Amino acid sequence: MRYTIVSRGDPLSSEVERSLDERLAQIELFRDDKNPEVVITVGGDGTVLSAVHNYLDRLDQVVFVGIHTGKLGFYADYIYDDLDTFIQNVKSNKYHDVSFPLLSATISYEDHQEYYLALNEFTLINPYRTQHLDVYINDEYFESFQGTGLCISTPTGSSAFNKSLGGALIHPNIQAFQLTEIASINSNVYRTISSPMIFPKEHNLTLKPTHVSEIIFTIDHRNITLKNYELIKFQLSDQVVRFRHYNNNDFWKRVKKSFLVENK
Ligand code: NAP
Ligand code: MN
Repeated sequence: MRYTIVSRGDPLSSEVERSLDERLAQIELFRDDKNPEVVITVGGDGTVLSAVHNYLDRLDQVVFVGIHTGKLGFYADYIYDDLDTFIQNVKSNKYHDVSFPLLSATISYEDHQEYYLALNEFTLINPYRTQHLDVYINDEYFESFQGTGLCISTPTGSSAFNKSLGGALIHPNIQAFQLTEIASINSNVYRTISSPMIFPKEHNLTLKPTHVSEIIFTIDHRNITLKNYELIKFQLSDQVVRFRHYNNNDFWKRVKKSFLVENK
């Protein structure tokens, strides 16, 4: 197995990285930063997101394993102080790989298009002024949104920003994506559906600004400023991210551990 390590770079993560290199060499696994099969992340879920974005052009060739230097993360399976279990599991070579869907966003400008992929979500946010967006479902007009923003998330992203916005948790075996509102205005002038909405894989969602405004567009942990764009079209991508799990990786157990009780 050729592996590489993507570390958050803080002192603890760097120490874990050093220790991993040493212990993986002992079981004759070799580091190959250029052409890895396995990308081990050491840090938080944010580190997993950066690693996935670094390898977007090679997703069919790599698989990710997460080691969390904090509490258990959503994408990370191991806690940093339990490297023994990780090494044992790698040695035993018993694992299963799971695939998580990515969401695509195609931004159209007057003269060109830009294409992005997200593992958690995209958001369109204007923290200063109300955004006015027409929402189309499968190219058919649905509603006009006025408010701070919208969040379009994947199943694995459903436990991230989406959850804070009152969105539903979606099991990652379900090929779907979700739209949640960020502070919509509902009055006798403006009206939106208000509930989070979940779309199947073959559907698409289009947002068209009806007033000129400059907004922040987030792509997982990244953000860019959008000006003068005509529309953004979202849909689930055929591309997936593969994660390697050596132990039981039940989604609902993760949800319980992360948001309710850790050890029951
Ligand atoms: P961050 O500020 O560290 O992330 C916020 C929190 O979300 C962290 O605790 C992070 O875990 C956790 N997280 C990330 N992906 C998750 C997932 N799929 N399920 C459950 N928790 C998750 O920033 P970051 O580490 O660069 O992560 C970027 C993500 O932060 C964005 O994709 C967005 O989902 C989330 N975010 C949330 C809010 C909000 O809830 N109000 C606002 C902005 C961004 P770690 O500590 O392990 O990294
Ligand atoms: Mn983080």
